[in-house]
Amino acid sequence: MASDGLKLPEIKFTKLFINGCFVDAVSGETFESLDPRNGEVIANIAAGDKEDVDLAVKAAREAFDHGKWPRMSGSERGKIMMKYADLIEQHAEELAALECLDAGKLFFLNKMNDVPVASNLVRYYAGAADKIHGETLKLSGEFQGYTLREPIGVVGHIIPWNFPTIMFFFKVAPALAAGCTMLVKPAEQTPLTALYFAHLAKQAGIPDGVLNVVTGFGATAGAAIASHMDVDKVSFTGSTEVGRLVMEAAARSNLKSVSLELGGKSPVIICDDADIDMAVDLARTAIFYNKAWMGEICVAGSRVYVQEGIYDEFVRKIAESSKTWIVGDPFSPHVHQGPQVDKKQFEKVLRYIDHGKREGATILTGGKACGEKGFYVEPTIFTDVKESMLIAQDEIFGPVMSLMRFKTIEEAIERANDTRYGLAAGIVTKDINIANRLSRSIRAGIIWINCYVVFDSDCPFGGYKMSGFGRDNGMHALEKYLQVKSVVVPIFGSPW
Ligand code: NAD
Repeated sequence: MASDGLKLPEIKFTKLFINGCFVDAVSGETFESLDPRNGEVIANIAAGDKEDVDLAVKAAREAFDHGKWPRMSGSERGKIMMKYADLIEQHAEELAALECLDAGKLFFLNKMNDVPVASNLVRYYAGAADKIHGETLKLSGEFQGYTLREPIGVVGHIIPWNFPTIMFFFKVAPALAAGCTMLVKPAEQTPLTALYFAHLAKQAGIPDGVLNVVTGFGATAGAAIASHMDVDKVSFTGSTEVGRLVMEAAARSNLKSVSLELGGKSPVIICDDADIDMAVDLARTAIFYNKAWMGEICVAGSRVYVQEGIYDEFVRKIAESSKTWIVGDPFSPHVHQGPQVDKKQFEKVLRYIDHGKREGATILTGGKACGEKGFYVEPTIFTDVKESMLIAQDEIFGPVMSLMRFKTIEEAIERANDTRYGLAAGIVTKDINIANRLSRSIRAGIIWINCYVVFDSDCPFGGYKMSGFGRDNGMHALEKYLQVKSVVVPIFGSPW
């Protein structure tokens, strides 16, 4: 039983989903999925490895080469996907509870945000499935031509633990619409919702072999996907370090197409003319958002630059507002922040906090673990941070904000870009000219002006620099799962 009397969800699916069936791993091995609220075992999950990836790829290959899915009309695929979206919506309560239990994400946010985002994504791409067309080409001489946009083939999706539901559909929804077949490897920390989505896919009528789920570890199952000779594309979301390994494995195997959505160290720039209360709220959401607000989000606004005219007042107000944050059981509707996903992540965040203290940054709020059990960390704000400090350079992936003061817009641009990442940025100003100037000068894949973490199925999302390449969402994501074929035809019969 969770706090506030909520019943914990039943764990129905713990095996690999291959060719439409739930099966044990070939080795018979399992691993434990843990409850981040207390570190207790929730379920034993099949530990897929290379042999299981081989089986899933074989099923996906057969479904691609000979099955109905890539050959059916876009509108038929769209219809099945619409049904899939309805089923996701109908199971929102259970899915939200599973995600809460497995990932420590706030139950109400999962239900109000993550699950609806998932069904919206499926509907968005269902609507696109019958709008995939090529161009007609007027070639020189006596030839004409046209292009076909064909599904890229068998796709391996490797996803992280911070948004298990949303990440699943960032990848799966456009790939399904494109007519691809696929296997998904969820993160080992959060396998439960992916297996549930596999079950719902079957109920919706997605043919066997089209969508397979292989649970397991990165170094085994994940690596086997990246280096598989019969996977045509790997779509990866995760850390920059692992993204590099995935790209290397793709290059060394069959030169499969790769797209990488990686880490970030995103700046939020708050100018003198900003409404301070709004800016405090925005900066708080930008870093502490997710689960909510524990910083386990790739676009976390972890570097907050405040212009000198309002810096002191901003610091005072954000310190005050942090007193209202409640850290606790993510099933409770009164809680703002749940636990970090696991012990490893919890310890990593605390190590960075210690490092920040040792480097000379000042703790404004938080700074330590909290709660008697589980992986809870106080929302932590540092002041007196310099770009040279590790806490200002590395992605901490936890509730740790670095506050910095700036004088001029030129200085803000330079310092905001002083990072190896380029995923997102926030700008808070009432001056349209400053907003325009900043948004064009900051090298990041998404810029939020007077808002933050606003995502939409139609809004492309991805990184610059070491935050990766390729875009999720929007029609750009569909392109990742298609390739272009040119067909050339003589107009007046063959000249040969
Ligand atoms: P991670 O890189 O450790 O793991 C991501 C996935 O890769 C997991 O499924 C993991 O099992 C797998 N993996 C691990 N080693 C592998 C290997 N050698 N070969 C193939 N796969 C392997 O990342 P994480 O800790 O799960 O997630 C946090 C990271 O994800 C952060 O850096 C965060 O910024 C990033 N992220 C990025 C986005 C984005 O869209 N840019 C979104 C969410 C998370």
